[in-house]
Amino acid sequence: MPLLGAHMSIAGGFDRAVERAAAAGCDVVQLFTKSTGQWRARPIQPDEGVRFQEALARWGIRHPLVHASYLINLASPQPALRKRSVAALVEELQRADALGIPYVVVHPGAHLQASLEEGLTLVADSLRQVHRQRATGQAEVLLELTAGQGTCLGHRLEHLAVILQQLDEPQRVGLCVDTCHAFAAGYDLADPGGYRAFWQRFEQLLGLARLRAIHLNDSQRELGSRIDRHAHIGHGLLGTAAFRRVLTDPRLAPVPMYLETPKGTHHGEDWDVINLRMLRALADGQAMAEAASPAAPRVPSDVRAAPRKGRRQQRRSADGRRTEE
Ligand SMILES: [Zn+2]
Ligand SMILES: [Zn+2]
Repeated sequence: MPLLGAHMSIAGGFDRAVERAAAAGCDVVQLFTKSTGQWRARPIQPDEGVRFQEALARWGIRHPLVHASYLINLASPQPALRKRSVAALVEELQRADALGIPYVVVHPGAHLQASLEEGLTLVADSLRQVHRQRATGQAEVLLELTAGQGTCLGHRLEHLAVILQQLDEPQRVGLCVDTCHAFAAGYDLADPGGYRAFWQRFEQLLGLARLRAIHLNDSQRELGSRIDRHAHIGHGLLGTAAFRRVLTDPRLAPVPMYLETPKGTHHGEDWDVINLRMLRALADGQAMAEAASPAAPRVPSDVRAAPRKGRRQQRRSADGRRTEE
């Protein structure tokens, strides 16, 4: 079974994100370590790191991952903003260290009025500065493939390759693929040939060994739209067949996968729970009939209720405790 989880809120404490992940039935969790709209944040206290690690151990949640603030623009042509972005990314990495989290996902940035090539060079330059300021410390950067909205870089695998080529220590940067971003960027993961071509190119240009995380989001917007709108699994234009391919691809089996789909409830049930159940059904090879039939309901009742055969089932009680069935 793939390692599946979701982005969770840290409201009430970092350990609360772990509890929320456990309650939803996650194996893994992603979080922001501060409000994404603010540059500054109160430093993380040692006891918060301890409580976070205790929560991970208690609930059996693995592969915690930080998503960096959206304010960071490593490609900004304005030196002051770029300097601020480098400092903010260094701080994000320090915060990850304080929590014992190994990776921080960041978007490459937006080139704005500068050229695309200049933008890529500035991203590499910024990352070199981050590395220089981080002689010690554990956490490393993951660059995320983006949808390419506006002047955002990183929507072509080639962009990521050019950035890595310009680094002194490229081994200190890993990669994160987002299924919604890839589709919006024009990589047709909904098509079997498009799916094959994407990963072939990824392997050629970047190497699958660099892939440390996958964001599992369906896409509200069409192929190549370059608009980033996440949809619930099977409720967007990627569709369930695309996710079945990702979830059953042996090359991707060791890579933790995180939902970043809209929060809330559907008929009284948490959307994360619904999406995780859909993903696990697809990973199990169930729901294939549903995937093959676009007329079928998106979350069919037989998938919801179907017992998972042939493997130990895990359920959690209302307070989030794991119980074995
Ligand atoms: Zn993402
Ligand atoms: Zn996105």
